Amino acid sequence: MDSCETKRVPEYFGSMVFNESVMKERLPKETYKALKRTIEEGTALDPAIAGVVANAMKDWALSKGATHFTHWFQPMTGVTAEKHDSFITPVDHDSVIMEFSGKELIKGEPDASSFPSGGLRATFEARGYTAWDPTSYAFIKDNTLCIPTAFCSYTGEILDKKTPLLRSMDAISKQACRVLKLFGKNCRRVNTTVGAEQEYFLINKADYAKRRDLIFTGRTLFGAMPPKGQEMEDHYFGSIRPRVKAFMEELDDELWKLGITSKTEHNEVAPCQHEMAPIFETTNVATDHNQLTMEVMKRVADKHGFVCLLHEKPFAGINGSGKHNNWSLSTDRGENLLEPGSTPHSNAQFILFLTAVIKAVDEYQDLLRISSASAGNDHRLGASEAPPAVVSMFVGDELEAILDSLVRGIDYTDVEKTMMNIGVSALPPIPKDTTDRNRTSPFAFTGNKFEFRMPGSSFNIACTNFILNTAVAESLRQFADELEAATNFDTALAGLVQRELKNHRQIIFNGNGYSDEWQEAAAQRGLMNLKTTPDALMHYTDDKNVKLLARHGICTATEVQSREEILLEEYCKTLHIEVLTMLEMIAREIMPACIAYSSKVASSVATKASIGISAQAEKLLAADLTAWMDNLASCQAALQDAVEAVPQSDVLTQAGYYRDTVLPAMDAARAAADKLETMVGEADWPFPTYGKMLFYV
Ligand code: ADP
Ligand code: MG
Repeated sequence: MDSCETKRVPEYFGSMVFNESVMKERLPKETYKALKRTIEEGTALDPAIAGVVANAMKDWALSKGATHFTHWFQPMTGVTAEKHDSFITPVDHDSVIMEFSGKELIKGEPDASSFPSGGLRATFEARGYTAWDPTSYAFIKDNTLCIPTAFCSYTGEILDKKTPLLRSMDAISKQACRVLKLFGKNCRRVNTTVGAEQEYFLINKADYAKRRDLIFTGRTLFGAMPPKGQEMEDHYFGSIRPRVKAFMEELDDELWKLGITSKTEHNEVAPCQHEMAPIFETTNVATDHNQLTMEVMKRVADKHGFVCLLHEKPFAGINGSGKHNNWSLSTDRGENLLEPGSTPHSNAQFILFLTAVIKAVDEYQDLLRISSASAGNDHRLGASEAPPAVVSMFVGDELEAILDSLVRGIDYTDVEKTMMNIGVSALPPIPKDTTDRNRTSPFAFTGNKFEFRMPGSSFNIACTNFILNTAVAESLRQFADELEAATNFDTALAGLVQRELKNHRQIIFNGNGYSDEWQEAAAQRGLMNLKTTPDALMHYTDDKNVKLLARHGICTATEVQSREEILLEEYCKTLHIEVLTMLEMIAREIMPACIAYSSKVASSVATKASIGISAQAEKLLAADLTAWMDNLASCQAALQDAVEAVPQSDVLTQAGYYRDTVLPAMDAARAAADKLETMVGEADWPFPTYGKMLFYV
């Protein structure tokens, strides 16, 4: 039986969303038209119509059983925030009516003081407001009408991840429209589109509850490798356990109700690891939807006796989770600008946009790396399971050959020159590469879009995309300036493409990104290799980066500075919590277990000796256990010392200290504890092992 048919998915798809068809049905015609203009062209919303929209939204929400509303926003913490207010308004003495005003729809005033602001303002003046982003639909979650909003301080500084994204979308739209005009196309809007593939782990709730490290830090800080890991490669696309299948079905249902186009669900490489891929949409909607997806995953997992782990590296030695950000540009007429064309003219346009992306990725390697930087993702990047920390681009052999001939054009004979003249010559059809994917590349062209694979699984893709959009907007700005001033468009275009490709082809690499040779070759090419989060973040405030973001009106120098600080602080805090958790687990769980177990072994030696048996095996084990316990005790002391000696200086120095001093001390303590795990009897070990957590039935 076709389950889609019996469930009638089209009937409930988007049923919890105040989407276009609901608006059309519930709003007066003029109001609907005005709102639609705002949504499509990003124009300001007339406050007069807000009241009408608010009322219609409330009536719709009440009909769906909602009682509360919230401004739903994305502060710098990486999660989404909400503060619920009910619709009730008292009338007379003892009754209420349900009300929702235009003012409440457009603007909210959450106290900003408890959200990270990176020193943007003192706490006592921490007033902030949220403003409705009408380009993302309102929706109902847990009987609450959620209104997607941007979050700013009262003095106008941005305090969230959404605002820079919305600004970057305007910036890239503006520049892309200028370029398209040169090709004779009048577009009002060019949007970037994103499909974010989400990886995650599911483990049993009962196991999770016994692991303080998972509870406090989202990842295991201890755990020896089980006899079997992922080496048999039997999990990827393998058949899905019935319990997991039931989870995925309910996940799809819940996502579909929220209008999220969950399309593909499959097992990933690691045991217990899975992936969900949605159909792509406009970037800000894709961002909201990805944030919601992560939340829904956790909620649905709980109902099925699972916990959904979104950490980048929950298990050492087992592949971590990423989020693949598939990205392209699309005009308001639905033309995908990264789709190779079938005529020379459209190919020239394609090549120009492709060149803009190549230039952007090369010039802003550091910003792209920054957009994927976190303590969690440091365990994943460069560990031969995810892209290395060096940013490079894969374009495939055919496309590289074409780009190569465009670059070589001038040095060669007339026959080859025709290739260079992209205004008139035909490019061979560029095959969409589906099978022969280069999975080791951080930034891969996949036929009609780029797939950026560095972001971590728990990331908010707003950051990834505001950086990507702005960097490409800058390339397009420069191209438009130059080409608008040219007397002969075709010649100018050919010259520009040739020059830019020549300058930036160093970023293109089609080989194995996991190899050591690439690390060396990349260094020779002068590409950046920002191995850790502090290495990357210190470049946020580099002059060229601040200038880029300021020029396109994304954020000011002060705001960039504050973002750098917030992210560095987050890095330090994450490691600090991990250390404290480790110390607690050693002192209160691992050591007591080892003491109890080794005493048991030692008493066996004594008991046997009393009846004249030598007990050689127990003697050896007791001695070995004791030696490793001593080792763990000294690691514990060293870790304690390290965390007590964190320098009280600027946050960059602190972050460097956590990386260089604290992390190695953590690794040493873990190694000793993991060794002990392999020696202590299973029943005596205080928490579930990797084998138990990863290979459940
Ligand atoms: P696969 O990687 O399995 O071959 P696809 O290439 O079809 O699958 O898509 C992978 C992801 O890329 C999906 O989330 C898809 O919606 C997204 N995607 C496809 N086209 C675009 C586009 N033009 N812009 C952004 N994302 C896209
Ligand atoms: Mg992928």
